[in-house]
Amino acid sequence: MSRELVELHGILLKILPYSENDNLLQLLTAEKGKVIIYAKKSSKTNRSGSYNQLFAYSKFELISRGHGMMVYSGSQMIESFPELRQMPYAMAAGEYLCEVSTFVPENIDNPQEYLSLLLNSLYLLTDRKVKNLDYKTVKLVFEIAFLQLSGLMPNAGECSSCGNEPVYWNFDEGFLCGHCADKFPNSSLHLLDKSMFSAINHIMTVRGVKRYVFTMDHSSFNLLSWLSEEYMKYILETDLKTLNVYRQLVSRE
Ligand SMILES: [Zn+2]
Repeated sequence: MSRELVELHGILLKILPYSENDNLLQLLTAEKGKVIIYAKKSSKTNRSGSYNQLFAYSKFELISRGHGMMVYSGSQMIESFPELRQMPYAMAAGEYLCEVSTFVPENIDNPQEYLSLLLNSLYLLTDRKVKNLDYKTVKLVFEIAFLQLSGLMPNAGECSSCGNEPVYWNFDEGFLCGHCADKFPNSSLHLLDKSMFSAINHIMTVRGVKRYVFTMDHSSFNLLSWLSEEYMKYILETDLKTLNVYRQLVSRE
């Protein structure tokens, strides 16, 4: 069988126990997007570099054995965020961003963009680059940017039905004006204020660190955060385990 060495740059999203001796690792990589590789459980303690570092961005050395199966043979850490271990709220948010990233679509042509979004967001959860940037803001920006990249975030600039100024969010139809919203039951309509629309538009149009910097009043911010979490679960059709942990933690803050 032909063996080929492959190098991928990425971040470990998830470890799945596979057999007595092996784990399956899910990585988000710059080169191939989401990949699953095999790794010996004993590799965790190998001198060649451990793969189970939390949030570590690493160069993974893999052996490809045909049929697309890749086996871990070592890794070199490029960047890590060890301080998040001392920041429980930011860490819970980071774990949630990693779980959401397990839903990066298959066969994408822009894997680097998803990886950059995750890495930049993890970086901003630490205090290294921007002092006192709230982890809740980083999480919200990540969510909307991730949904936008995946083609799942509706255009917040106009009513999806008639093009007028929107005031509601319906998770199936997108953003709607008051007139077009009449067709839908109240229970499926979420009323947004102007500051929530401008925050969504800001996140969807601004790039770089400035994307994470905007101001809103507390109650609008909290409602938008809750809506983006609910929409994430709805559109991905999943209950996100790390989101439940995050919400429990934040509710006790
Ligand atoms: Zn309309």
